[in-house]
Amino acid sequence: MTHRYDAVIVGTGLAGLRAAMEMPPGARVALLSKVYPTRSHSGAAQGGIAAALGNEEPDMPEWHTYDTVKGGDYLTDQDAAEVLAADGPRAIFELEHLGVPFNRRPDGRIAQRAFGGHTRDFGAAPVKRACHAADRTGRVVLDTLYMESVRRGFRVFPEFSLVDILLREGRVAGLVAMEFATGELHVFETRLLLLATGGFGRVYRTTSNCFANTGDGVYLAYRAGVPLQDMEFVQFHPTGIHGLGVLISEAARGEGGFLRNGDGQRFMDRYAPTIRDLAARDVVSRAILTEIREGRGIQGGDCVHLDLRHLGSERISEKLSEIASFIRIYLGLDPSNDLIPVSPTCHYMMGGIPTNLDGQVRAADGSIVPGFYAVGECACISVHGANRLGCNSLLDLVVFGRRAGQKMVKDLSLLDRTELSSKSESRIHGRMKRLVESRGEVRVPDLRSRMQSVMNRYGLAFRSEPGLRQGLAEIRELAEQCAFVKVENRQRGYNAELMEALELESLLGLSELILVSALQRTESRGAHYREDHPLRNDKDWLKHTLVRARTEGPEVIHRPVVITRFEPKERVY
Ligand SMILES: Cc1cc2nc3c(=O)[nH]c(=O)nc-3n(C[C@H](O)[C@H](O)[C@H](O)COP(=O)(O)OP(=O)(O)OC[C@H]3O[C@@H](n4cnc5c(N)ncnc54)[C@H](O)[C@@H]3O)c2cc1C
Repeated sequence: MTHRYDAVIVGTGLAGLRAAMEMPPGARVALLSKVYPTRSHSGAAQGGIAAALGNEEPDMPEWHTYDTVKGGDYLTDQDAAEVLAADGPRAIFELEHLGVPFNRRPDGRIAQRAFGGHTRDFGAAPVKRACHAADRTGRVVLDTLYMESVRRGFRVFPEFSLVDILLREGRVAGLVAMEFATGELHVFETRLLLLATGGFGRVYRTTSNCFANTGDGVYLAYRAGVPLQDMEFVQFHPTGIHGLGVLISEAARGEGGFLRNGDGQRFMDRYAPTIRDLAARDVVSRAILTEIREGRGIQGGDCVHLDLRHLGSERISEKLSEIASFIRIYLGLDPSNDLIPVSPTCHYMMGGIPTNLDGQVRAADGSIVPGFYAVGECACISVHGANRLGCNSLLDLVVFGRRAGQKMVKDLSLLDRTELSSKSESRIHGRMKRLVESRGEVRVPDLRSRMQSVMNRYGLAFRSEPGLRQGLAEIRELAEQCAFVKVENRQRGYNAELMEALELESLLGLSELILVSALQRTESRGAHYREDHPLRNDKDWLKHTLVRARTEGPEVIHRPVVITRFEPKERVY
């Protein structure tokens, strides 16, 4: 079936929905989502959304910009960080006016809490900057924006998966999506395409991400000829529930919780003397892993404790109720009485599809791909640099989602339609036929599990050349086996096995690109820590990585970092 639209937005998390809000009445706009829209991962965000409102204590957008640049270990493009911080207060008031039920202070203004790496006075002390609705912030913002999109009458295609991106003569022509309920392929002809397909934490075994976060959009963009930026920068959140990876938000430490090692000691003083447990995530995650490596994990094992007991049951149920219920359900523990075993979990991808400040996708030579936009976690503006600060993602989604939407509206009148070739579906038909008719013996869950083990082993927070080379060789071997994957389910509709086989190609492809990018960066910066190159090296490496597809395999090139105000200096917390 073929559909014709002016603009198609793929992904209905906060980034896609916020962009959609800019679309003018009467424009033919379609929204596609692999999962039911309100099940997008944005709905799982717990802790909050950052903005220098200064409601609790003095704060300024300049301090927020500085924290974002420093948090990103100076790989952040500073013009992007300035836009993020300066537009933050407006973005929060906009959400408030749309009806987001933020927690309030006694005087009626929006309440704010502390979060990792957010400071006042250029690093002097933690500042309360995170606006929140208890620990369900993403949930309430997502529901509010979805309600808004229903009110505006956008055409939503739920459970439609993007399976191919169609570019023609270097510009957007359309896309192909598979309808989960029927298995039918749909071609969408469109002048403008916005990808808002989220992250890909599912390349790792231990992750806080939902099952849909397999990075299809990012990988399909790469296959369509777009380079990917800064793929080596993968964020490991310090406090995943040990063994499961389910997130315990930084809000727990923002409200006053802290970490203890196996000796019962608070150890963050030794790693971040000024802001201790509220240092940036890469710093806290490495501190936990160092304690574990040096034998100070709980009972000498591979986790530490998060201590919330002193907060008391009342504060916990008021501000951290969802987290408390996770702890009860998954561990059978009560956070007001028990210590919680935690270890780092894969959480966020700093890298992705390179864009300018208006969400326009940039080709390898820096030029714009006409009609193509990306925003949210799948994009790399780069506002988070080498390490994202907590609560800056939700802000990124609404600030840059709006800008991308505004740019699309301008471009609607400028760009004509590109005719699709009659063979638009043939590439994906070929891929699906190969999967369904494969006589191979390899099962998708086995291959995915092996991939996740390789990534957990070699692509985690501590990396080295031999490990990365070994990991890359193993991932490439698994990718070859992908050609022999067997899909036993022959049913057309609701064929989850076929979906997972398609997702696996993206996951394996992205795993390779993470390792290729990590191998070439012979320095340590933000979330990327090389044991064989433990220092940051601004002389050679103050630049973004771009990896692009070549027939002989991925090729790495570089792009300079935008520095406006803050000259790189040593990063201490
Ligand atoms: C547990 C958890 C807690 C978090 N807490 C916070 C927090 O407190 N504050 C903060 O700032 N950040 C937080 N983050 C990070 C933040 O939530 C995410 O980075 C952000 O929500 C990503 O939003 P998005 O709009 O880019 O994508 P998502 O919300 O992930 O949505 C992706 C969309 O793309 C669609 N999609 C994907 N693939 C396809 C496909 N092939 N075809 C069609 N559609 C597709 C999905 O259906 C979905 O609609 C948290 C993340 C996690 C995992």
